[in-house]
Amino acid sequence: MPALRRMVERLFVLMKVTRGQIIARGLSNRCPNCGGHTLFKPGTLFELNPECPRCGLKIERDEGFFLGSMSLNYGVTLVGFLTPVMLLAWSGVIPVVTAVILAGAGAILMPALFYRSSRSWWLMNYYVFLPQHLPANRDPQPGDATEDGNV
Ligand SMILES: [Zn+2]
Repeated sequence: MPALRRMVERLFVLMKVTRGQIIARGLSNRCPNCGGHTLFKPGTLFELNPECPRCGLKIERDEGFFLGSMSLNYGVTLVGFLTPVMLLAWSGVIPVVTAVILAGAGAILMPALFYRSSRSWWLMNYYVFLPQHLPANRDPQPGDATEDGNV
């Protein structure tokens, strides 16, 4: 039972970075580990830092992470923009020609506008389910330096 208790404590009690903090940081495009505005290279719109310059968290991951964030982006564009435009045209609120133009423009603009958030949200999604994988939440390993620098 001590092993189970330790596992529960690791998951719910002793997290330095809570799930709420991870969600808040993810929604505001910040590093889930340290909270810095460090996900993207300064002065760029779409260029992700390979790792957080402040805490060293690996941000750029394998292709699966990129595909996941693009799937999220596609889903948000489809559900949040294209479906409402289609419903407005279907119900007669806007003409079909207007809906086609809006859908065409939105299909290009929405993914570009949502790109940064989709990368951040996908990273947030991973750490919300596995907060113990954040470096800030890991148990100190033997040989790690303590907070005052002593080993
Ligand atoms: Zn960081």
